[in-house]
Amino acid sequence: MPETSKPRIVVAEKFNESAMSRLAAAGDVVLLDRPDEDRLVAEVTIADALAVRTYVHVTAHVIEAARQAGRLKVIGRGGVGVDNIDVAAAVAAGITVVNTPAACTQAVADLVVGLIVAVQRRTVEFDPRVRRGEFASLRSEAPQAIELGHQTLGVIGMGRIGRAVGTRLHLGFGTRVIYYDIREVGYLPFAAESQPDAEAVYANADVVTLHVPLTPLTRGMIDERALTHFKPTAILVNTSRGPVVQAVPLARALKEGRLAGAAIDVFDPEPPPPDHPLFSAPNCVLTPHVASRTQEGLAAMNDVVDDIIAVLQGREPMYPVECQ
Ligand code: NAD
Repeated sequence: MPETSKPRIVVAEKFNESAMSRLAAAGDVVLLDRPDEDRLVAEVTIADALAVRTYVHVTAHVIEAARQAGRLKVIGRGGVGVDNIDVAAAVAAGITVVNTPAACTQAVADLVVGLIVAVQRRTVEFDPRVRRGEFASLRSEAPQAIELGHQTLGVIGMGRIGRAVGTRLHLGFGTRVIYYDIREVGYLPFAAESQPDAEAVYANADVVTLHVPLTPLTRGMIDERALTHFKPTAILVNTSRGPVVQAVPLARALKEGRLAGAAIDVFDPEPPPPDHPLFSAPNCVLTPHVASRTQEGLAAMNDVVDDIIAVLQGREPMYPVECQ
């Protein structure tokens, strides 16, 4: 048989039908179901492109195997965070990494607003209690909630999602917005006050929402010490990455009343084990890493295949990931 000239494209996690057919038109597609590192090492030595989503880790070891084989040109991550890819190793090996940075900005921001309201207005707690016949007794309780127009939102990481959350809260609810970012933040389409450090945000916000990437600096940034700065009436929302928050001290702070509530979409590890400390923490709303999972968000994340194809065909990709 003559050797095929079509590029070999390894899809390591499920993509939608449209994305799969676009890839199939551009090359020979090999579909895998979350391969382990050994299998991935074997595959990248004979592949031209690799497509991943959230759970396949493209480690330095995998990239070194690809570099030695000299065939892999592009790694595509359908999604935003690239913490599952060793981008520095890939760039050093001459392999282009592409992602979909803006795919789920609106989806995540929508859920953050819903989570803030759910925790502060106790909707998740109330629902089963209404079903158990507590309607009248719940209505007789003095309200604890304060309207969002009288609160301060603290954003850690004022990038795409942080801005989308700030826009919703300030322009929609009249919430004051403060933030901390390690980079200079340019024009914002709403009023927001920069703070000198994260601690100033923790100390002055009624809602702290995390929108940082997972990096060596942000891993574990919400630890015992950070939690000492929070107001006891404040709530924490984490839709960034699980390891940014240390779950044990957070659960302890909630149990001891040093924090009023939390909403958590991302865990470390995922899925969380049955004895995860936050499962027994009070006023804690948990979602299964679904902040990005709207129809629009998922469709846009699948569009990473267009950039994979662009690189394979020698064109400039729309969203190359730069080494941080
Ligand atoms: P972005 O790159 O636009 O913004 C991130 C911001 O964080 C940047 O402004 C950056 O300067 C800032 N930052 C980095 N390190 C920091 C630090 N140590 N302290 C303060 N600020 C810091 O990214 P984005 O599109 O807003 O997404 C943010 C993160 O959200 C992603 O990296 C991803 O991990 C996560 N995410 C989660 C979901 C989900 O489904 N739960 C979906 C999409 C994105």
